[in-house]
Amino acid sequence: MNILISNDDGYQAPGIVALYEAIKALPGVRVEVVAPEHNNSAKSNALTLHSPLYVHTAHNGFRYVNGTPADCVHIALTGLLGYRPDLVVSGINNGANMGDDTIYSGTVGAAMEGYLFGIPAIAFSQTEKGWAHLDSAAQKAAQLVTQLMPSLPDAAQRGQPWLLNVNIPNRPLADIKGFKVARLGRRHAAEQVIAQVNPRGDTMYWIGSAGAAKDDAEGTDFHAAAQGYATITPLQVDLTDHERLPYWAPTAAHLSAPGEAAPSTGAAA
Ligand code: MN
Repeated sequence: MNILISNDDGYQAPGIVALYEAIKALPGVRVEVVAPEHNNSAKSNALTLHSPLYVHTAHNGFRYVNGTPADCVHIALTGLLGYRPDLVVSGINNGANMGDDTIYSGTVGAAMEGYLFGIPAIAFSQTEKGWAHLDSAAQKAAQLVTQLMPSLPDAAQRGQPWLLNVNIPNRPLADIKGFKVARLGRRHAAEQVIAQVNPRGDTMYWIGSAGAAKDDAEGTDFHAAAQGYATITPLQVDLTDHERLPYWAPTAAHLSAPGEAAPSTGAAA
């Protein structure tokens, strides 16, 4: 069983070290780490197309890349590893990736890159920043990986990978109630941008904090995590608003009707 580990907080982050140690200890598992050199949180699925990527190996054997989380998994799968892993795991992230966070998350982006290559993938995050009870989160992650391992070769071979987003409360192991499957909630829009003046008089801007939970109803990741559960949300990649396909059809039809299709040039009128 070959498992590739990446993250978005960088190869030196405590979360990826804890995840590596916990998964490496599982029987019959070979683990490799390919992770960003620096913090790449909120880089989503970004790929670096206009500058070269370099890979270095740290003293502990982790390989690090001057790129994004998706870059790391991409180059690992397309040449660096030289084999196809059975599972891609990402994290453990320093802070929650619930609701809308998943759109921006580099932790999810790294896992999604594996998924897009047809490999089952899991993104792990702790719900609070600061690494409190990180060992508990790593144990829960290893529990889930152990449970899923028997099904991995089949999922990969049949081309039916899955993508799981997992958020683990920062609690002692005994106080985490268990795993609960949950849908994504929603956040309010982010806080206002923060403007500051630098020593040379230029105005600079800091992106504000993520918004508070707006939809944290029962059944959401926000709700289950607040109750003390580790949440599992199966993700899909299709962003199509299927329900509204019929709503937009008349607009397309109207624009395609005779006399409506060609944009006016002025001269023709
Ligand atoms: Mn992060």
